[in-house]
Amino acid sequence: MSKIVLGVESTAHTAAVGLITSEGKILSNIRAVYIPEEGGIHPREAANHHSEKLPFLFKAAFEESNLTPQDVSLVAYARGPGLGPCLRTGATAARAFAYSNDIPLLGVNHCVAHLEIGILEGATDPVLLYLSGGNTQVIAYAAGRFRVFGETLDIGIGNGLDKFAREAGMGFPGGPKLEKIAKGPELLDLPYSVKGMDLAFSGLMTSAKSKLDSGYSLASVAYSVQETAFAMACEVSERALAHTGKNELVLGGGVACNSRLREMAMIMSQERGIKCFVPERALCVDNGVMIAWLGYKMMSADYNVSEKDNIVDQKYRTDMVEVTWR
Ligand code: AMP
Ligand code: MG
Repeated sequence: MSKIVLGVESTAHTAAVGLITSEGKILSNIRAVYIPEEGGIHPREAANHHSEKLPFLFKAAFEESNLTPQDVSLVAYARGPGLGPCLRTGATAARAFAYSNDIPLLGVNHCVAHLEIGILEGATDPVLLYLSGGNTQVIAYAAGRFRVFGETLDIGIGNGLDKFAREAGMGFPGGPKLEKIAKGPELLDLPYSVKGMDLAFSGLMTSAKSKLDSGYSLASVAYSVQETAFAMACEVSERALAHTGKNELVLGGGVACNSRLREMAMIMSQERGIKCFVPERALCVDNGVMIAWLGYKMMSADYNVSEKDNIVDQKYRTDMVEVTWR
């Protein structure tokens, strides 16, 4: 029988509620994004935003789907990794909703959710290139766990783009604004920092700012930042594909909305003779649907729902997830 799962996302900027059926039909995908007035994300302000918005997001999700809480078989929430105050707010909302409607509750891993939503696109056992604000990782399932094959050694790629854009006088979020302006024509020499399977972005962004200060056009600097940062990400993904022998790549995270990144990942995949799955933009950014979908997968694999829901662990590690659904 078809089941409906509700997912709550609140790990960073985004508060979101999604509803999905066990067949993968998306019934609702509602989000609200905290935008700082200045500077980067302030965890407590973001948490306040989420606690203000979440009741309306629940309401809107039920209105959009024409469902009632009684239709829901499981409430899943993003248990980590993320910002402590934000995680706590989402967990509290999910718990209050689940307990008051007598629905089982399950905390799930946010990064794994970005990977598993790729299954809806047709992937079976992919490598995930996960490029978001705070997270930059290459993740794949191997030997019973989701393994982080490579990751940033300093800032997340999205936070790097946002910081450079902010210093260049553009508002938040910077990634999409830079994409619009990244026309070139000059490809400038910027630090290309791939260290084994890991990446670093802060030197790249600092160097980009000094290029801008020395008179290069924003169009050329933005273009060069994209070309360099995305080539680094594609290189590490390709090495993870080679290492694992997998033949599917999935893109995830807000930066995966970028058309040039999508194009580069497609070209690399074609050249390797593998498939590249690019979820629609509303499923690349942080969303409640992916949380609900992973919750369903775990529930359907008899994951012990009642025992695992009671801790909000900021350090919730991807490779510590007990994988019972594969
Ligand atoms: P997330 O943390 O996954 O919700 O993604 C948010 C990040 O994605 C922010 O750092 C945005 O600047 C970035 N982002 C969103 N759209 C784009 C885009 N089209 N190109 C590059 N970065 C983007
Ligand atoms: Mg994310």
